[in-house]
Amino acid sequence: MQTGKINVQTENIFPIIKKFLYSDHEIFLRELVSNAVDATTKLKTLSSLDKFKDEMGDLTIEIILDPSKKTLTVKDKGIGMTAEEVDQFINQIAFSGAEAFLKKFKGKTEDEQSGLIGHFGLGFYSSFMVSDKVEIRTKTYKKGAGTKAVRWECDGSPEYHLDECDKADRGTEIVLHISEDSSEFLDENRILELLKKYCKFLPVPIRFGNEKTWETSETEKDEKGEPKRVEVEKPRMINNTNPLWKQKPSDLKEEDYNTFYHELYPMSFDEPLFSIHLNVDYPFNLTGILYFPKLKKNYEVQRDKIQLYCNQVFVTDSVEGIVPDFLMMLHGVIDSPDIPLNVSRSYLQSDQNVKKISGHIMKKVADKLEELFKNKREEFEKKWDDIRVFIEYGIISEPKFYERAEKFCLLKNTEEKYFTLEEYKKFISDAQTDKEGNLVYLYTSDKEEQFSYIATARERGYDVLMMDGPIDNHFINTLEQKFEKTRFSRVDADVIDKIINKEDTLPPLLNEEQQKQLTPVFEKEVDKSKFHVVFESLSTSDLPVIITQPEFMRRMKDMSALGGYSFMGNMPDSYNLVINSNHPLIIQIMDMKDEAEQSKLSKQLIDLAMLSQNLLKGEALSGFIKRSVEIIK
Ligand code: ADP
Ligand code: MG
Repeated sequence: MQTGKINVQTENIFPIIKKFLYSDHEIFLRELVSNAVDATTKLKTLSSLDKFKDEMGDLTIEIILDPSKKTLTVKDKGIGMTAEEVDQFINQIAFSGAEAFLKKFKGKTEDEQSGLIGHFGLGFYSSFMVSDKVEIRTKTYKKGAGTKAVRWECDGSPEYHLDECDKADRGTEIVLHISEDSSEFLDENRILELLKKYCKFLPVPIRFGNEKTWETSETEKDEKGEPKRVEVEKPRMINNTNPLWKQKPSDLKEEDYNTFYHELYPMSFDEPLFSIHLNVDYPFNLTGILYFPKLKKNYEVQRDKIQLYCNQVFVTDSVEGIVPDFLMMLHGVIDSPDIPLNVSRSYLQSDQNVKKISGHIMKKVADKLEELFKNKREEFEKKWDDIRVFIEYGIISEPKFYERAEKFCLLKNTEEKYFTLEEYKKFISDAQTDKEGNLVYLYTSDKEEQFSYIATARERGYDVLMMDGPIDNHFINTLEQKFEKTRFSRVDADVIDKIINKEDTLPPLLNEEQQKQLTPVFEKEVDKSKFHVVFESLSTSDLPVIITQPEFMRRMKDMSALGGYSFMGNMPDSYNLVINSNHPLIIQIMDMKDEAEQSKLSKQLIDLAMLSQNLLKGEALSGFIKRSVEIIK
């Protein structure tokens, strides 16, 4: 028996490690299982190179929990280790890694700390976070002198024991004697949860005890003579060793992608809209599948639905910095051995490789969208309402994405017709160019509420776009910046002939002096802090009074409501009360002598205008109804 001191300077680094890694204890299992997978994969490689000539046998990795003995064992049938290798890989390398780790570790944030573990070869070592004592029993695949099975043991002091032991089969068993304060890892469900989280797609089969299921018996029959349903105990297998993203896209059908989606998200009942298979081997290695999910009505986006894997080992579901921000709403998996997974986030974001990966993912997504648009425009249009948020967000946030999306970004009008940006421009450019040569895009944010304004615009032969998405305000701003000589205006931003000003208007029937006289008549009927009385020389067929909401002020307010501009948080609504100075009823009000009558008629006209902006509510609405009945009488 050999006893030795692990080669570290620090007296007892175990308690320190334990304390530092408090928040991330559970990853010990991921580390041990991936070591077992590594050892098994190495054996397979040796066998395929004919350097290992024996039968490999069943290579299933077993996780064995024994709560009565307080042990958790990870057992593989991989290459194993000789005594010399244990000394080298465990006593020296693993522990020197641990010490280097410790030096770097102090003074880092928690986020950075948890990312550091695997990076320093702390894999095996992390088992001490949850154990009083760790045993290794291992037998190498090698033959000859110095290849007897060995047992290594360490109880958390820098001292270890190493001696020969009885072990018949090839491979390694890591036995953890779980410590009192980590007893959660003696709970079967907790271990199952961890295995499902980290090991679901590992390339070597993993078994965790047995499970009971119901099966149709081949021999037993029930009273009716039908085959009986019987309870059977079967090995509980954890993983799918050949996940879809590792397979060839040309071998796969849409159904396969949809089935896999449900394997990834068992709790989701929606079908994804479509998927993108990522497959890169130069200049970095990356595979994966991204899904465009069906968004919920309230646009509640979940940003943690992309799972990041490193050689099929689950690493994290927070992919900030790796996936462009606007694509974080997608679902799916990304697997890359080339992403420096075990370093801090701030490092990730500045890493050149990661930037390339992010750029590549964006390009792939654009390729797929463009292909769908070109080859299946009808289908693309059907999906548009669901995917527009992604695309608009991409256009707003990534100039590079806009360059691609210009071709397939669609605009929908109130008639539910879809146009590309270019098609739409052509479509409206004759009718909707104002006298200064600016092209005016009209839009509505609510077809019902702005109905009468839409109708007026359409009477003029203008087209109105639907802009009722959650980020359309920002989207419109972006388009305005990208397009030349173009202005966007909501249909109710002004009277239509002012929004698209084509020629000089008629001289008003009311002169300036009369307008000044009439202003207070209307002002006293409204809240002056919200409404601004203006006179416009409109056609006699237009309404006598119209309420509009100036574009600029409204946009500012909408933006502040969306957040981010808190200094404008309580901006009041601001409307124009537009008086049609050519309308006979306005002239009539001007000429009235009886002040009460004058007030009644102007109030009535204002209320009508309010109604069409959906602003007449409660007491004001019932007052209007009463007054109307009186007038009709
Ligand atoms: P890493 O996996 O990053 O090399 P670890 O600390 O996880 O670092 O493991 C240290 C070394 O111990 C491994 O490189 C490997 O040589 C050896 N090792 C660990 N577990 C096993 C195992 N189950 N079978 C064979 N060798 C192992
Ligand atoms: Mg490891």
